[in-house]
Amino acid sequence: MGRLLSRIICISRSRASRSRSVSPPNGCSPFRNPGGLSRVWGSGLSRAPWFLSGARTFSSGTGSGRESIEYDVVIVGAGPAGLSAAIRLKQLCRERDLDLSVCVVEKGAEVGAHILSGNVFEPRALNELLPDWRNEEAPVDVPVLSDKFWYLTKDRTFALPCPFNNRGNYVISLSQLTRWMGVKAEELGVEIYPGFAAGEVLYDSNDNVVGVGTNDMGISKDGSKKETFQHGVELKGKLTLLAEGCRGSLSEKIISKYNLRGKVQAQHQTYALGIKEVWEIDESKHEPGAVLHTLGWPLDHKTYGGSFVYHMKDRQVSIGLVIALNYQNPYLNPYEEFQKFKHHPAIKSLLEGGTVIQYGARTLNEGGFQSIPYPVFPGGAIVGCSAGFLNVPKIKGTHTAMKSGMLAAEAAFSVLSEGSSMVVYYDFLRKSWIWEELKKARNYRPAFEFGLLPGLAISGLEHYIFKGRLPFTLKHGKPDHKATNVAKLHTPIEYPRADGILSFDVPTSLHRSNTNHEHDQPAHLQLRDPTIPELVNLPEYAGPESRYCPARVYEYVPDENGVLKLQINAQNCLHCKACDIKDPQQNIEWTVPEGGGGPGYSVM
Ligand SMILES: Cc1cc2nc3c(=O)[nH]c(=O)nc-3n(C[C@H](O)[C@H](O)[C@H](O)COP(=O)(O)OP(=O)(O)OC[C@H]3O[C@@H](n4cnc5c(N)ncnc54)[C@H](O)[C@@H]3O)c2cc1C
Ligand code: SF4
Repeated sequence: MGRLLSRIICISRSRASRSRSVSPPNGCSPFRNPGGLSRVWGSGLSRAPWFLSGARTFSSGTGSGRESIEYDVVIVGAGPAGLSAAIRLKQLCRERDLDLSVCVVEKGAEVGAHILSGNVFEPRALNELLPDWRNEEAPVDVPVLSDKFWYLTKDRTFALPCPFNNRGNYVISLSQLTRWMGVKAEELGVEIYPGFAAGEVLYDSNDNVVGVGTNDMGISKDGSKKETFQHGVELKGKLTLLAEGCRGSLSEKIISKYNLRGKVQAQHQTYALGIKEVWEIDESKHEPGAVLHTLGWPLDHKTYGGSFVYHMKDRQVSIGLVIALNYQNPYLNPYEEFQKFKHHPAIKSLLEGGTVIQYGARTLNEGGFQSIPYPVFPGGAIVGCSAGFLNVPKIKGTHTAMKSGMLAAEAAFSVLSEGSSMVVYYDFLRKSWIWEELKKARNYRPAFEFGLLPGLAISGLEHYIFKGRLPFTLKHGKPDHKATNVAKLHTPIEYPRADGILSFDVPTSLHRSNTNHEHDQPAHLQLRDPTIPELVNLPEYAGPESRYCPARVYEYVPDENGVLKLQINAQNCLHCKACDIKDPQQNIEWTVPEGGGGPGYSVM
């Protein structure tokens, strides 16, 4: 038992040695168990009632060769949702004098390493969760001071009335906020294991979820065991909370297995891809707290999306382009659109003389209210963006992710302490401000199915006049993968060459994302049918995966006979999930690679 625990701690520690921005006080992972085994074995609070077993138990007789650890609650994903759930659970334990064991697994090498966001942060949920955050050095210290909204043409800028109300909000790095939340969670006794990817849901004989299995490590591409081989671990929970963020791989399996959309007649989820850089700019141009959103160029009026430019502190500016993945033209290349965007005269003048510190990409949900699945399954619940709680007109999902995590924690606590049912989580959600907020915003995104100008008109009426009270709910159009047209309906788009000053090629950007995967491991990007790329995607859609992937993971290269074949450079993957969403035939399945791989964001 002790060996297993020390192996986990040891692996966490070595994975987290890639840490760049947060220096842990003891020189090891910020989330290893600083109190030694005493904290891991329990905080000394009184035991839970009869139906709880109390401290977790360990066993190695699972038949799979894997050891297993039992917790009261297992949380997958140390993002804002997962960490809020963990913190709230432990707060309730303190308030009610109970001891529940809570663990969080995180596939990033450290907490925050895979977190990419804007981020203009609405502190509503943080105020509720940790009301004293201002005195506890939370990295939330740049209030929004100005809020602009522009429509861009190729050379010009038109100021529009700003629909955002960011007064009271903050410009932050979400990756840094989650690191801070990780420390808070650990202080309360949560066990966090960065560098561990949950690759499998565990079920009992009645099909109830009973936890997750982490991936085996040290397996080579051909499936053989390397010298470094280590079995994965079974993390068994009385309850399992899935907090994997947008398009969570286990969450999607659960949604489909238990038909969680059908259960509440939810529509399909829709998505966008956000591509982002953090720049350090000239002091004279830097305005901490300045927020800008744009619409229009470089995107055409049929493609929904826009840019954001957020001034953080220390001369840093967060700049990104978000493009809805229901775009039709298979020649569109989101990465190149972003590079082009930076050459707009108004943006160029801001960035000139600056340097890029970091690059990354991540998808976000855009389905909103209509697309929320029933978030409870036998044995647990789905929280945060895995369930799709992002508010599209606000372009914010952090506060709702956090609140949903807190509500799931309250439901889980009542299940474990009073024997109630996890169904109360759904009731809590519907009575909460998340529901009210998302319901009000429900017609905003689908209004843009009619194009940019009608979309602006309808959403403007909804926002300013009806305030979400229109007596109907607009439906989303086709799912993103079905929205791509065949190539013959479009002409190829010529993108300008990167100038190396404002715009960059993919390898240069990838280097800035600190992406790193063990090269010799089984492919985590799996083709359901390996013939589809050459038989369908290339001839019909001109190989769109070679363009929508912001890391150039997919490349068509000639074989020895000069025939183009798909090559998958899985080690470059940024874990954005766009391929899982946009492939026209839904032929690509994104599965978790070995834990600890992927991007290494520190200021995103
Ligand atoms: C470009 C962009 C701009 C945005 N701008 C804003 C903004 O300005 N304001 C705002 O409020 N919101 C913004 N958002 C949305 C915001 O980032 C999300 O709503 C929020 O991060 C959701 O939190 P989450 O905890 O649900 O998921 P995430 O933040 O995605 O966290 C999920 C975590 O789970 C881990 N994980 C996933 N699967 C597994 C697994 N199987 N095993 C182990 N670990 C796993 C991931 O590595 C990650 O650390 C933006 C998003 C993007 C992409
Ligand atoms: S392979 Fe898929 S998940 Fe990875 S970066 Fe490319 S599109 Fe994103």
